[in-house]
Amino acid sequence: IPVDAFDLVIFGGTGDLAKRKILPGLYRRFWAGQMPAESRIIGAARADLDDAGFRKLVADAIDEFVSQDKRDEAMIAQFLERISYVSIDATGTGGWDQLKAMMRSGVVRAFYFSVAPALFGAIAERLSSNGIADSESRIVVEKPFGRDLASAQALNATLAAHFAERQIYRIDHYLGKETVQNLMAVRFANILFEPIWKAQYIDHVQITVAETVGVEGRGAYYDKSGAMRDMVQNHMMQLLCLIAMEPPYHFDPNAVRDEKLKVIRALDPVAPQDIVRGQYLAGGGQGGYIEHSENPASRTESYIAMKVHISNWRWAGTPFYLRTGKRMRARASEIAIVFKEPPHSIFDHASGWRENQLVIRLQPNEGMNLMVMIKEPGPGGMRLVQVPLDMSFADALGEEGADIPDAYERLIMDVIRGNQTLFMRGDEVEAAWAWADPIIEGWEGRGEKPQGYDPGSSGPDDALMLMHRDGRRWREIR
Ligand code: NAD
Repeated sequence: IPVDAFDLVIFGGTGDLAKRKILPGLYRRFWAGQMPAESRIIGAARADLDDAGFRKLVADAIDEFVSQDKRDEAMIAQFLERISYVSIDATGTGGWDQLKAMMRSGVVRAFYFSVAPALFGAIAERLSSNGIADSESRIVVEKPFGRDLASAQALNATLAAHFAERQIYRIDHYLGKETVQNLMAVRFANILFEPIWKAQYIDHVQITVAETVGVEGRGAYYDKSGAMRDMVQNHMMQLLCLIAMEPPYHFDPNAVRDEKLKVIRALDPVAPQDIVRGQYLAGGGQGGYIEHSENPASRTESYIAMKVHISNWRWAGTPFYLRTGKRMRARASEIAIVFKEPPHSIFDHASGWRENQLVIRLQPNEGMNLMVMIKEPGPGGMRLVQVPLDMSFADALGEEGADIPDAYERLIMDVIRGNQTLFMRGDEVEAAWAWADPIIEGWEGRGEKPQGYDPGSSGPDDALMLMHRDGRRWREIR
């Protein structure tokens, strides 16, 4: 379904994110017929380029990041006709008049801040003081949204000085993933799951985001961040909220975000013994974290595992285990809902019983599996075997289902539609920092060093113990 025609200005249009995700994503939406022909995309960045120069950059990005089957020469040419460029320094005065003159009335006006957060305030201020943005315009802001509660509050206040909350779209691309939204469909469009979606029937939940890459090239940035700030406070917290939230009264942006906020507020402080921090060592012919961070005494974690409790009626007693790391054995993001044992077994446990699990895979191979027990076929008596009920899109929905749009392109279309459901509200972000701050301050105050772990492993040994001591085990990272 096509969205309304729009003018989209991308600040930082020449940057890495724009080239890899935003511009190729917009092209794919154009190719799919979702971006109306009257729409315009305007790159805005410091580089001294003209329209032709920027179109060349966009064409190269399409070449590199769009799959062959969608690269149609005539289509690309039509897309490029809709692209222009204005050279603007976010902190200067030049270029803003030119940008204002390019804006049209009668179309959706959106501004994507794909620049360092330090520039968000300057851009917001200039958009409003120059009359480029109006009360219906939308702004999209990238991560990181603050590095603690105080900085997030300051950033919210800066944006709020020029834009209303309903105009602000804080991107968390995890929320744009098809399976993440499917999690809500599975929970709230079926009668099967919701009755057992509670501590009484769920033993625990595991959320894993494992990467095989290290911090190469981003060492200086990452060293000020670490896994807690870069991954847990935002992406993993959002996943946790979608699993744990109460059913919203309607699939409406504020109804959903109200429920997520309640989850964050119900999180217990995390005890030091429930957190394991790690830092990858050198190995496999590559340097360790320390070599990449440029700080030989760095205490920044590239891995974290933690046990989190949600103190409310639904979840009391059911822990959520989170872990994320770089340089792990495999690249895998998944959520596993691990159910309890049946109350009474009529079969011999030794015959292969395992717990039911609902496994939601975010990457690679987005999809869901429900692990159920059946009888092992054959004459061997009543032997149980666990099999997956595969709910992957590719199989169930054919080719169309397998052609999953990238998170960014879906989210940008939501901005044009004016739908904030999959964007973080300011109070959610602040509540998540309010939870994370004392944890970070705790280990900084104690001068805690992360434990070394081997690249290609599944993290420090203590992370295994975090589960083992509770009589549980992590799913294998594959
Ligand atoms: P980048 O350094 O590759 O690009 C920065 C862009 O900002 C360039 O277009 C540059 O011209 C522009 N810019 C810099 N200073 C400017 C100024 N004073 N005035 C106008 N334009 C200016 O950065 P990036 O990797 O594209 O990241 C952009 C934003 O997206 C950052 O907030 C980053 O944290 C976030 N982000 C990036 C990624 C990623 O994969 N690259 C992922 C998630 C979030």
